[in-house]
Amino acid sequence: MTDLPGIVVTGASGRMGQMLIRTIAESGRARLVGALERKGHDWIGRDVGEAMGGAALGVSVTDDALEAFANAHAVIDFTAPAATVEFAGIAAQARCVHVIGTTGMSEDDLSKVKAAARHAVVVRAGNMSLGVNLLVQLTKKVAAALDEDFDIEVIEAHHNQKVDAPSGTALMLGQAAADGRGVDLDTVSDRGRDGITGKRERGHIGFHAIRGGDIVGEHDVLFAATGERITLRHVASDRAVFARGALKAALWGQGRGPGEYDMLDVLGLSE
Ligand code: NAP
Repeated sequence: MTDLPGIVVTGASGRMGQMLIRTIAESGRARLVGALERKGHDWIGRDVGEAMGGAALGVSVTDDALEAFANAHAVIDFTAPAATVEFAGIAAQARCVHVIGTTGMSEDDLSKVKAAARHAVVVRAGNMSLGVNLLVQLTKKVAAALDEDFDIEVIEAHHNQKVDAPSGTALMLGQAAADGRGVDLDTVSDRGRDGITGKRERGHIGFHAIRGGDIVGEHDVLFAATGERITLRHVASDRAVFARGALKAALWGQGRGPGEYDMLDVLGLSE
């Protein structure tokens, strides 16, 4: 049991944090060795299993990332951009694999993560599910096969607590469509539409975000031409798919050389 890779979960009380803790505890392939929350959180010092309303897991929630990471093989981090940037530096120092699910990171945040990846393995993906990563590859292929007669729109739906839009997954899908077409996403991206916007620009890629209730995550990539349209769709109905993907990434990263990887690498889907 103690030979199993030790994993720390950050944002332990969050929606994904709790799902990750359950997934690791039930996996039989890894051990939970740390649960992190921010300073002042009322879970600090409590057994994380009990704080989640279940059986004790023998791990106390801490706010000391340095100490927690020092004893771990991997950190799985679904929190917020500022926290993830800080954790990237500490994980690199501790030489543990940093699996990042946090979305909404700025270019500046990403450059700091890249710097950390010079010293340790970082696996970062806006979506850790197998289905979405397959959808990314399909989107790229379909976009490459169709010309600009087909307008591309990415439509996503999430729960009403989500703070960033478009979702990290929508951006991955838009990037895949742009790559397939051989265009720069930044110059063709249309984020939502409101007011007198003028006609749709040929070749642009549109993004639209729906927020409501407890929707876990839904993504459509629409290719619409005159007289026909294709929709590629992924629906996540259980957060466990992201947690299982993240755990797979943490195990995959063991023994690999420093660098920044994504789920396509983990799943063997990179071209
Ligand atoms: P959530 O329920 O709000 O959980 C975020 C957790 O992170 C909270 O417990 C929060 O604590 C904690 N946190 C924030 N800053 C922290 C810090 N400085 N130190 C320690 N803990 C900190 O959100 P969620 O739904 O789990 O999502 C978390 C992130 O994962 C989002 O960016 C989301 O988009 C992303 N996500 C990615 C995937 C994927 O597959 N890549 C899938 C689902 C979600 P407080 O409550 O005290 O702020």
